[in-house]
Amino acid sequence: MAQMIQKIDDLKLIVFDLDYTLWPFWVDTHVTPPFHRNGKYVYDVHGALVKYYPEVPAILERLKSLGYMIGIASRTSAIQEANDLLQLLKWNHWIDYKQIYPGCKIQHLTQLSKQSGCQFDQIIFFDDEQRNIIDLKRINVCSILVNNGMTFKLLNEGIDKFINDKAN
Ligand SMILES: [Mg+2]
Repeated sequence: MAQMIQKIDDLKLIVFDLDYTLWPFWVDTHVTPPFHRNGKYVYDVHGALVKYYPEVPAILERLKSLGYMIGIASRTSAIQEANDLLQLLKWNHWIDYKQIYPGCKIQHLTQLSKQSGCQFDQIIFFDDEQRNIIDLKRINVCSILVNNGMTFKLLNEGIDKFINDKAN
């Protein structure tokens, strides 16, 4: 079922971490490349299903259809593997910008800001690690901690926080 997402003029770019934000594993340790697609699903070299949080494709599709830009900020060292999964899962057509490499996420968000032409105060960032949230708050990116993977509920809570932060 399609779920409601608010379209906010001041909000341009929605940025997601990968591991434990869009999918429930660390791509550098929990799945083994090379990956392949068979029908609707993607598997690793051992035939294990590559899972993702179930609402993620619908979230990306809905955000894109509303005119939001979508970015990825991941500090994984498994750069090729992460990109391969994004392609095999067929999520790339919803994703505008990607920054995937180890390091502090201030760098990732700075590059995403440059790529997209968005200011930091036009971005929401979702990540499961508190250390990244703390870093991004230093540059005033509205940052939301993800506890159990992305859901429409959390997305809307994030947009509400963005609106409230602006009003205060
Ligand atoms: Mg993560």
